[in-house]
Amino acid sequence: METTQNLLMIKYGEIGLKGKNKSMFINRLVRNIEVALEGLEPRKVSSEMGRIMVPVLGDMQEVTERLQRVFGIYAICPVAAVKKDLGAVQKAALEVLEATLPDGGSFKVESRRADKTFPMTSPEISKAVGGYIFAQAPDGKFRADMRRPEYTLNVEIRGEAAYIYCGSLPGAKGMPVGTGGRAVVMLSGGIDSPVAAWMAMKRGVTVEAVHFESFPFTSERAKEKVLDLAQVLAGWHNVPVKVHCVHFTDIQKAIHTACPEEYGITIMRRFMFRLAERIARKNAALAIYTGESVGQVASQTLESMYTINNVTNMPVLRPLIGFDKEEIVERAQRIGTFDISIRPYEDCCTVFLPAHPKIKPRLAEAKEMERALDIEALIEQALENTETLLIGPDGAIDKQ
Ligand code: ATP
Ligand code: MG
Repeated sequence: METTQNLLMIKYGEIGLKGKNKSMFINRLVRNIEVALEGLEPRKVSSEMGRIMVPVLGDMQEVTERLQRVFGIYAICPVAAVKKDLGAVQKAALEVLEATLPDGGSFKVESRRADKTFPMTSPEISKAVGGYIFAQAPDGKFRADMRRPEYTLNVEIRGEAAYIYCGSLPGAKGMPVGTGGRAVVMLSGGIDSPVAAWMAMKRGVTVEAVHFESFPFTSERAKEKVLDLAQVLAGWHNVPVKVHCVHFTDIQKAIHTACPEEYGITIMRRFMFRLAERIARKNAALAIYTGESVGQVASQTLESMYTINNVTNMPVLRPLIGFDKEEIVERAQRIGTFDISIRPYEDCCTVFLPAHPKIKPRLAEAKEMERALDIEALIEQALENTETLLIGPDGAIDKQ
């Protein structure tokens, strides 16, 4: 066996701690990796004793960039693989170190022996590798530093081969998408809700977006913005994202006509949650995600959330609940949704925005005001006028 170049070793963090059903998580991660790399040249992603190996024949950078968007990956290590023979390990270790620190520097060797049939212990391997490097490299080029080395040179003796690597690229962390069940996320064109969707995905949840549109009060461009956001989210795991576009205008008009203005937002949001729940049930989803954060706007005071949340028994999950706007913006920039979110198009909430929304709406009052509306008929009609689109990572749109 020659040294294999362009091999990536994938470390998974949290799923390594799972018990009995660990293999379900790992298999899912392997499958998600294969999907993420579709169309590229790695072949035969394999999993072996706590690691996933990805041999790369094509563009290394493209492969690592795609892998960095796969949830469940803790770190990505470019490794050299050699046969399990001390001489081969020593030689490869020196090559890897020379490549990582071409001008020399400090290092330490850390070894792990997953294959206990290998005749040396981990400390013995480290010592033999370190000794070889000092003997072969020019005097003084490399220094041993056990406490604060510039690089740790890792040697892992595993089932099939010995792997040597220095350093790693950070993964997206979290859990593999598909292991956390299904939820709907209320996706507006704003900054917050795409971040909430991303955080759901990060924990392994498959999300379907629900978007309320107020055509013709909002333009086609407003909808385009939401579809573009869905495309960015789809790009994170390279799988299309469903977007349910609910025609919300008639409900807004009915509220505007029949209910006191100061309760307009409260009642409108009660309808949003009723509709989100119905769509969730139809699609076997078990929770509703939103981009709410306590205190951000009038509808996000605890009093508002109490009064609004009352329409549903489904868990309403708010991953941004404790975040400041600044923290959400920073996250949106990293995810890649921020620039789309700040495009200046009207969102359905701003169209019928009252001058003085009730900051502490009362549940009994909201219920009383809604008696003027035929709630069930409005919901049925909005559901009938819902269009479901499938948005691919490349922006392709499929009607469902
Ligand atoms: P965002 O930046 O996500 O729009 P926001 O600060 O503007 O949030 P609100 O308008 O009060 O807050 O909305 C709170 C949450 O309600 C949003 O994060 C989103 O989950 C949901 N939401 C609001 N408007 C819509 C919409 N038109 N379609 C779908 N969901 C919506
Ligand atoms: Mg909004």
